[in-house]
Amino acid sequence: MEKIAPNKLTRLSKSVISDLEKQAVIKVLDNGFLGMGSEVKEFEDMLSDFFGRPAVCVSNGTAALQLALQAYGVSPGDEVIVQSLTYVASFQAITAIGAIPVACDVDPETLCMNWRDVEKRITKKTKVLMPVHYSGGVGELDNIYRIAKNNHLIVIEDAAHAFGTTYKGLRVGGFGDIACFSFDGIKNITCGEGGCVVSSDLDFLNKVRNARLLGVENDSQKRYLNKRSWDFEVSNQGWRYHMSNIMAAIGIEQLKRFTYLSKKRQKLALQYTKLLSNVEGITLIDHNYDHVVPHIFTIRFSSQSQRDHVMERLKDNHIQFGLHYKPNHFLSKYRTHYILKNVELAYSQLLSLPLHPDLEDSDIDFICDIVQKKY
Ligand SMILES: *Cc1c(COP(=O)(O)O)cnc(C)c1O
Repeated sequence: MEKIAPNKLTRLSKSVISDLEKQAVIKVLDNGFLGMGSEVKEFEDMLSDFFGRPAVCVSNGTAALQLALQAYGVSPGDEVIVQSLTYVASFQAITAIGAIPVACDVDPETLCMNWRDVEKRITKKTKVLMPVHYSGGVGELDNIYRIAKNNHLIVIEDAAHAFGTTYKGLRVGGFGDIACFSFDGIKNITCGEGGCVVSSDLDFLNKVRNARLLGVENDSQKRYLNKRSWDFEVSNQGWRYHMSNIMAAIGIEQLKRFTYLSKKRQKLALQYTKLLSNVEGITLIDHNYDHVVPHIFTIRFSSQSQRDHVMERLKDNHIQFGLHYKPNHFLSKYRTHYILKNVELAYSQLLSLPLHPDLEDSDIDFICDIVQKKY
């Protein structure tokens, strides 16, 4: 069967912005208060309602991780165990404060942190476990918390992929030690750029609040009222990692539309699952899309050559794809002496297909036909 490839580009991911976000940004611009102020406060209040505990907004997800590590008291030389199969942001956040990322393996099914491998990598210097909620699922998160508890470690969840996901009836970010989210352009909700740290530990969150504003103590309360401090105290290293009103205005409208945005992602992922779950040579991550809000849709092939052929066909049909991710222990900055078997095999076999709320079922049908070489 011959079919002419559409010239239309099918994007891997996309910021999906409505008139509501545009109007909200114009309102901030008209008010002439673009920096951190009342919109950020409003967005944080909405997020706190969403998670059921406080959230502190920052400039991006990487900053959220860095500030969480710093505020928890991770120091230069401390070790943070993190899966190698993650965006380099997780690793850079760790080295930004001088700590050492210890790359660990993933579970072959979920591509989330492999707790058996984690156990082998704990040393006297280990302070934090940083599981990454790959594609939106959390893997065996309760086992990660169990190991952390047994070894007096804390868990900082890199939940950048999992905004909106629930685990055992609880929203990711709404339980556990610390969770960090990203609101960059392509995440489940966006502020353009942005991120947040969620926790129940109020002292810890205050440290994050101060550190995002150059360490200026208690400046956040003034900024929320569109004011700032002139006579202030600084006793810790801080960064300019706060969120702006422009970003928060986008985030507020995205969060109001989250039911639509999340359900659309889940619906598209279900459509992929329906079409690809019984295809020979392809395996899917076994998510329950009643609970998981997927950030990416990653499939695995039984061989690299099969995957590479599909990549060529997608290119020929103007369908973008992703490789999430090049393992961090393959990068010169983070190279290890040891092999991470499941990460390395997964990297040679995985492929991410387009997923964003502006796609339709017919796009998914077309992509799956191309993947399966139906024409
Ligand atoms: C997006 C992302 C981050 C960082 O978020 P930014 O907002 O882009 O800084 C961290 N970890 C993972 C797994 C991500 O996908």
